[in-house]
Amino acid sequence: MSSFPTKRLRRLRYNSIVRDMIRETVLTKNDLIYPLFVVPGTKVKHEVRSMPGVYQMSIDVLVEECKELVQLGIPAIILFGIPDHKDEVGSGAYDPNGIIQQAVRAIKKEVKNILVITDVCMCEYTSHGHCGVLDGERILSDQTIKLLAKEAVTHAQAGADVIAPSDMMDGRVAAIRKSLDYKGFTNIPIMSYAVKYSSGYYGPFRDAADSAPSFGDRRSHQMDIANGDEAIREAESDVEEGADIIMLKPAGPYLDIIRRVKDKFEMPTAAYQVSGEYSMIKAAAQNNWIDGERVMLESLISIKRAGADMILTYFAKDVAKWIDSNK
Ligand SMILES: [Zn+2]
Repeated sequence: MSSFPTKRLRRLRYNSIVRDMIRETVLTKNDLIYPLFVVPGTKVKHEVRSMPGVYQMSIDVLVEECKELVQLGIPAIILFGIPDHKDEVGSGAYDPNGIIQQAVRAIKKEVKNILVITDVCMCEYTSHGHCGVLDGERILSDQTIKLLAKEAVTHAQAGADVIAPSDMMDGRVAAIRKSLDYKGFTNIPIMSYAVKYSSGYYGPFRDAADSAPSFGDRRSHQMDIANGDEAIREAESDVEEGADIIMLKPAGPYLDIIRRVKDKFEMPTAAYQVSGEYSMIKAAAQNNWIDGERVMLESLISIKRAGADMILTYFAKDVAKWIDSNK
């Protein structure tokens, strides 16, 4: 290996043409998945207090939003539902006429060329805000996965293109795969939230999805932030159970984990840049403490460089517009 003065790394940085040619990581619109929150009613477009630029929308508004996303070239959305009614067993989650099922049908009827991914969990639908059926204060994994499988099938029947279980119950990918196959949905992929840390960065999402737990937290099923090897074990079980895409969240603070999972499994890998990551950048930018656009791009390119093939991000529209104006 040569060294200085023969070797000068700055030679390839001296102008923007050269820099563009040797760039290793490029963000494209095909990397983007836009999360959307759907609420009951009509003409509802309610900004989430802690997430500037992110809205809860009723189905009619959501359909128009999806048309705009297609115009912008954003290929995919992931839907979260906020039902008008919650109960102990989260029945709104698997109601064929639940909020998500209705939303998917409406989008599929009116919008072409958008991939509809649905989040499958119970916490937005349970009165206690936990991700499954409870016995006292304990979540019953085995009962819960039966309901999750039922929820997934109703999403597929409504027209969902990809099912994304987010609950972190053991065995749920296999249970969902089996139910989907049994009902004839052998071609519907599963994007599993394989590695989900018990993170403080989810705070603003709970405003958006009205899903804060009424007691306790999610540490009994989400991962300890300090663990890396455990992420490999979590991802491994989802891959074995039949996940087609594995997802990690949060993204930015866990770039090392994204890289390890990508290298280890060589699977299509998604990373969720979660609400807190978004809100921190937005808030600092609104105060002119950082250059918001620059930090947004840096955050997303870093996630892709770490190994993510696709990124779930509330910045999807902003990035798509940036890509268009920088062609
Ligand atoms: Zn949940």
